[in-house]
Amino acid sequence: MSEFPVGKIREDFPVLSREVYGKPLIYFDNGATTQKPVQVIEVINQFHREHNASIHRSVNFLSDTITASYEEARVTTQRFLNATKPSETIFTSGATASINLVAFSFGETYIHPGDEVILSTLEHHSNIVPWLMMCERKGASIKVIPISDQGELDLEAFAQLFNKRTRIVAVTHVSNVLGTINPVEEIVKISHSNGVPVLIDGAQAIQHGPVDVQKIDCDFYAFSGHKVYGPTGTGVLYGKEKWLETLPPWQGGGDMIDRVTFEKTTYNELPLKFEAGTTNFIGIIGLAAALEYLKSISIKEIESYEKHIVTYASNALQQIDGLKLFGPTGHKAPVFSFILNQIHPYDTGVIIDKLGIAVRTGTHCAMPLMDRLGVDGTVRASLCFYNTTEEIDRLVEALDVVNTMLS
Ligand code: PMP
Repeated sequence: MSEFPVGKIREDFPVLSREVYGKPLIYFDNGATTQKPVQVIEVINQFHREHNASIHRSVNFLSDTITASYEEARVTTQRFLNATKPSETIFTSGATASINLVAFSFGETYIHPGDEVILSTLEHHSNIVPWLMMCERKGASIKVIPISDQGELDLEAFAQLFNKRTRIVAVTHVSNVLGTINPVEEIVKISHSNGVPVLIDGAQAIQHGPVDVQKIDCDFYAFSGHKVYGPTGTGVLYGKEKWLETLPPWQGGGDMIDRVTFEKTTYNELPLKFEAGTTNFIGIIGLAAALEYLKSISIKEIESYEKHIVTYASNALQQIDGLKLFGPTGHKAPVFSFILNQIHPYDTGVIIDKLGIAVRTGTHCAMPLMDRLGVDGTVRASLCFYNTTEEIDRLVEALDVVNTMLS
């Protein structure tokens, strides 16, 4: 793996060279948010300095320029996802907003009392709560795909969940807790053979490998900008045109309208129908810069380097005395949830933080999954392509210190 230029890549991320508590920062909280490369920081800076004006609305030079860049960002995003048209790419404030959009708009149109939605045990609260809110509003209910003890979806049980009342399936592409990579193409095939559309929550997948929405054949795909090296407050919803055309807007306001009177409003065309109000337009241009940055490294190369990281970290963590690692160990994203002996995850997290290592502890917004695993929480180290095997060695040393202090 020596050919992957991780050292050079790290130079693109200013924060990675800082220290915390007098120790070099090791950032293993990428599942929560990723760091930003200078290529993104500079685009945002430059647009604020030189090109700031409101998009779509004004007849002036700056507005024309930035509107063009915003729409170019849509084409960049469309190509990154291999969507068929730019208008199938809706900009939102994040994966949460994208999922809420579908839960609301799809629910309004297609869900009736007695209908059912299928989710999985692996879901983040962002892909549970919007559906639950919709089900409570519409008198519908949720069915749940069970998982194996290794944290993999039980597809046979999944196929048995369908019936005449099933209206939509919403599953995560990659588990934010276990790193499980779900077989999304198979999930879509099974769902479509039952005549049911699928939303994929790609918040933890888009940053780790190529995503081709045509190949997956999903009906909706959601992700957040800040987890893919872009700015916070940006996100994407991909939707097949045939669905987006039929769904009502989920928010009303400027830009999403065609004509407004006090009696009636007609809506704008796709994609603007779903982009009410002033979006985080400079952020979206920054998101496109992040996607271009990943393309310049090659998302395939990133995936292959991260496979090496998965193997190295899985082996290293399993050597640690009393460490229980949850989830699959082979084919997975570089996300490691564990508990060290009987030590509370919070205590482990606080001690290794003082040694310079940033992780997350707790339920990771996945309480139903914690219930299934039979734990109150875990320590989660979530890695990415700027992390190194030397950093993993430092984590192992730090966990040995925790063991010595608290076991
Ligand atoms: N889905 C998954 C799998 C996630 O990990 C997260 C964020 N942790 C979300 C959805 C929500 O993303 P955001 O908070 O950026 O909207």
